[in-house]
Amino acid sequence: MKSNYKSELVGVFGHPVAENPTIIMQEAAFQDRKLNWRYLTIEVYPEDLKDAMRGLRAMNMRGINLTIPHKVEVLKYLDKIAPDAALIGAVNTVRLDGHMLIGENTDGKGFLQSIKLDAQMDPVDKNVVILGAGGAARAICVELALAGVKKITIVNRTAARGKELVNLIKNKTKTSAVFVEWDTIFTVPEKTDILVNATSIGLYPDVESKPNIEYTSITKHMFVCDVIPNPPLTRFLKEAELRGAKTLDGLGMLVYQGAIGFEMWTGVNAPVDVMHKALRDVFVK
Ligand code: NDP
Repeated sequence: MKSNYKSELVGVFGHPVAENPTIIMQEAAFQDRKLNWRYLTIEVYPEDLKDAMRGLRAMNMRGINLTIPHKVEVLKYLDKIAPDAALIGAVNTVRLDGHMLIGENTDGKGFLQSIKLDAQMDPVDKNVVILGAGGAARAICVELALAGVKKITIVNRTAARGKELVNLIKNKTKTSAVFVEWDTIFTVPEKTDILVNATSIGLYPDVESKPNIEYTSITKHMFVCDVIPNPPLTRFLKEAELRGAKTLDGLGMLVYQGAIGFEMWTGVNAPVDVMHKALRDVFVK
């Protein structure tokens, strides 16, 4: 009888990484698809990233996720970077193409997939308001712009970061972009189609916090999204629901970005429902 005891390896490099829940959904997906693959949660200190990437090649690992603080630094150690990841300036997923390490960013793609599939919404020609200008906001803005939204208003506390993102969207995509400094309570413009909280406000354990906006300016015509995956139902989304808006939580984005990574690595269709359930079960209710 022929035997194959070798598992294919993927995982995540991060620091700190112990609480990263991605293993839960990826291992559930491997089991569901009967793949002999393993997802490893690996603590990599910033000064060791270069060696870790060499180790990845040496052990013929099939890919890796990058999380804080490695998403930008990893660019140095890759053979190629996907065009959208290059625009975003960060990589959260590395896949192997032959012996080449290719950098991808699936965060914004996951958000877009959630908008299209969970919310059944076509982003083309929409007016978008994004709260925040950090890594998640950059990934979302780039993918929304490439998908053809009309205008993005970026609202951020630190002006330099917000303006830099506005310039990126204006100079590198066909979407128009404006910056609003977030130094006082923000009123959502009436013509907004999609409002996104892309800040870290409301993330567990800070579950009572919500972004400083005029909640009465949210209307039932708006689509209101949060990137916070845990808890899925944030105070921000609760407030939006109270105003009759349709809402989308950050758990969907997290699942889809993982599903896109799963498919890049394995070439197999991801069991999105299985991954969603696995993560939902470990998150705050
Ligand atoms: P960053 O640290 O890169 O950016 C954080 C952003 O939040 C910045 O714009 C920052 O503003 C803003 N912010 C934080 N606190 C406040 C505050 N008190 N008032 C106003 N603005 C504030 O983080 P990331 O972009 O990487 O992550 C943001 C969130 O997105 C996290 O909670 C993370 O869990 C979530 N995320 C979810 C994903 C998913 O798949 N669902 C994927 C990736 C991230 P400033 O620039 O002024 O500091």
